[in-house]
Amino acid sequence: MSNPATRELLADLIAFATVSRDSNLALIDYVQRYLARYGIDSEMIADASGEKANLLAVIGPQDRPGIVLSGHTDVVPVSGQQWHSDPFVLRETNGKLFGRGTADMKSWLAAVLALVPQLIAQPLRMPVWIAFSHDEEVGCKGVPTLLARLAQKTLPALCLVGEPTEMRPVFGHKGKIALRCEVTGHAAHSAYTPQGVNAIEYAVRIIQSLMTLAERLKQERNPAFDPPFSTLQTGVIHGGEALNIVPERCWFDFEIRSLPGVSVQPLVDEIIHWSQQHLLPEMRQIAVGCDITFTPLSHYPGLQTQAATTLEQVLALLPPPAAVNTVAFGTEGGLFQQLGIPTLICGPGSMAQGHKAGEFVSLPQLAACDTFLADLCCWLREPT
Ligand SMILES: [Zn+2]
Repeated sequence: MSNPATRELLADLIAFATVSRDSNLALIDYVQRYLARYGIDSEMIADASGEKANLLAVIGPQDRPGIVLSGHTDVVPVSGQQWHSDPFVLRETNGKLFGRGTADMKSWLAAVLALVPQLIAQPLRMPVWIAFSHDEEVGCKGVPTLLARLAQKTLPALCLVGEPTEMRPVFGHKGKIALRCEVTGHAAHSAYTPQGVNAIEYAVRIIQSLMTLAERLKQERNPAFDPPFSTLQTGVIHGGEALNIVPERCWFDFEIRSLPGVSVQPLVDEIIHWSQQHLLPEMRQIAVGCDITFTPLSHYPGLQTQAATTLEQVLALLPPPAAVNTVAFGTEGGLFQQLGIPTLICGPGSMAQGHKAGEFVSLPQLAACDTFLADLCCWLREPT
């Protein structure tokens, strides 16, 4: 059962080009004004730059645990993609709504906002928190301040993150940690290699130790995930100026996608320690200015949903989960779960369409989301 308001709100939300690198304040302001129309105060939680903000609002009694409806407001860029129409103008063709963010994940935001009139029209048995974050697509950078604010309240009993899962409940995803390693060697004429320190060759030795770690990570398995083990890869490398110069600089980026429960930080620390205790002294014997540094780029924890009463009750409103109920992509869910809030991923659309040109959500998916939220609203009604 579709809610006509969802589509109108979606068109408005898509029109805000909230690519992660740009400000999302205009969208936040729009949501605040929308909520104010229904008498709901919302809190804007700005970041240090003042250009981005999270939004937190609550409906219903605050003296007890409630449900968080969570989503991110940012979208991935459209540059370099072949769109057939303006990605920031919602367009319907053959039962599909096209636009950047239709799948990931403004349809969920629109459906949540469209539910507000029904939520305020009845006494609620528990509070409903609306939690919209910034900068999810660049490593869940916005949500920590939102969670800090939520932690000061009565801790919610459930969080629903509406990332696109075609409205199937998802209970887990891998965590991610990404780092940049910068190797500073010592330049020399390539005819005199012993006088230089080859930054590329030292970088390769570090990458080789990472590849050994990747093999070790395969030993711990969880069949709920594809692939069923934690993975590691180096994705970018830059180094050297010319073939006749011993390269002074080389940097590379690597990431580990870890099974929930697998703690990879100590393994990364081992490699950092080995680089600095074993490789660096060797390099500095030739030139004291040599260095190896590791800089974190982003990280978020994996998600493994913990069983809980409210969760079970809300799950009963959804279609039965698929046999494999994990997703390959990361979400903010792990951070909510880390705070002790049982967290479920469930939202309209498919990530098969996310981040691509021609991103869309189908009308049946949007209707399925509206139906679920309407059922949730009925379930939330205070029993009389
Ligand atoms: Zn997303």
